[in-house]
Amino acid sequence: MQAKQSLSTTHTFDKSILREYDIRGTVGHTLGETDCYFVGRAFGTLLRRRGGKTAVVGFDGRESSIAFAANVIRGLTDCGIHVENIGLGPTPMTYFAMKTHGKDAAVMVTGSHSPLAYNGIKMAWHDGPFYGDMVQHIGRLAAAGDFETGQGQVTQADVRDAYVDRLAQDYTGSRDLSVAWDNGNGAAGEILRRLVKKLPGKHVLLFDEIDGTFPNHHPDPTVAKNLVDLQKAVRDHGCDVGIGFDGDADRVGAVDENGGIIWADILMAVYAAEVLKTHPGATIIADVKCSRVLFDEVARLGGQPLMWNTGHSLIKAKAKETKSPLAGELAGHICFADKYYGFDDGPYCAVRLLNILSHAGKPLSQLVAHLPKMHNTPEVRFHVDAARKFQIAGEIKDRLRKDNQTDVNVNDIDGVRVTTPDGWWLMRPSNTEDVLTIRAEGFTIEGLDRLKQQLVAQLQASGISSPF
Ligand SMILES: [Zn+2]
Repeated sequence: MQAKQSLSTTHTFDKSILREYDIRGTVGHTLGETDCYFVGRAFGTLLRRRGGKTAVVGFDGRESSIAFAANVIRGLTDCGIHVENIGLGPTPMTYFAMKTHGKDAAVMVTGSHSPLAYNGIKMAWHDGPFYGDMVQHIGRLAAAGDFETGQGQVTQADVRDAYVDRLAQDYTGSRDLSVAWDNGNGAAGEILRRLVKKLPGKHVLLFDEIDGTFPNHHPDPTVAKNLVDLQKAVRDHGCDVGIGFDGDADRVGAVDENGGIIWADILMAVYAAEVLKTHPGATIIADVKCSRVLFDEVARLGGQPLMWNTGHSLIKAKAKETKSPLAGELAGHICFADKYYGFDDGPYCAVRLLNILSHAGKPLSQLVAHLPKMHNTPEVRFHVDAARKFQIAGEIKDRLRKDNQTDVNVNDIDGVRVTTPDGWWLMRPSNTEDVLTIRAEGFTIEGLDRLKQQLVAQLQASGISSPF
């Protein structure tokens, strides 16, 4: 146990841990228990100053998470914030407790899908995401020792049954399904065991033991190699569908009855068809990395497709502003405001998919069979000089503007996404690392080659050699 911090204490964080959407660092090096206390203290201060008094705290299954959460809680209560500690579980359960218990904020200690050496802290206001300069503000308050002071109380709450009941509530299917689940030893394990008891059909659970050392595979269902076990389980057990979560289950991945991967943008096309039945003409938001197939499908279904910045906090903020019933990103954060609270919840997305499948009476592969088969590059990421990171998109835009080709459309909402008759390509600077991401998608292989050539030519014109 650490000594109580004196009120005049200041604290300087390693600047790498204050990121765009959350706090994340290497345990015991850039992020330790003292840092967690001051994150709680600074966040509690911000909460008090916006009129808040209460917060929910939860944590994932990583080995450092209990101690980190205890320090966050101490920081919050030293500000006078009353804390409800809901214990071990997935990130969306913490958001759920905040929403249903009328708390002013949520704090989740989780390293999500980061490598083993990492842990982190996600924060949310009851009325919207906490991100961007708000995270930097934590650093400024701590450096100045500018904290509120008080004596908050801590209560324990077990919200697991209430959460699982709410998840299962939106399953109204009549056809029994056979489902394989891959929890990847993440924080949703106990929730998953309880959830499948409430759902009809047959359920095969992989790696439902919560184990923060992730002994089986890394908990990130957006990477194909992490889906191999799930694909095998679907085939071996003749399942209708396979569903995977990331380490804190705010992201979802799926495979169809043949073991084929359904990436999150195509999964969103399935959800969009369902949501637009009850919200005709609604705005459906997806990030710039998503396939053109999704945007075209939303338009075909009568919805308003809106391409937005990558980053789950940015997507959530835009969804709230536009009252979008469905918003998400290729990384697997998918937010339902239709019937639900609008936060990214992997288990809830799973229930919605099972519900669609049960009512559809046809397999998942058939639900997406009408969508054009595009030819994609994977998402390619490569290091770039920090000073150059944000300049390159501007240079590419300028050159394309000078070219002034009538059949080329340039979207600069987040990096540069260039649409041509062949398809599209994307060049995007990461907000969290000195990394550029590129991706291309063509209607044909030849078209994809042309798109890649254009992209490589643009990168070379900015002094970067081909990463393909
Ligand atoms: Zn996550």
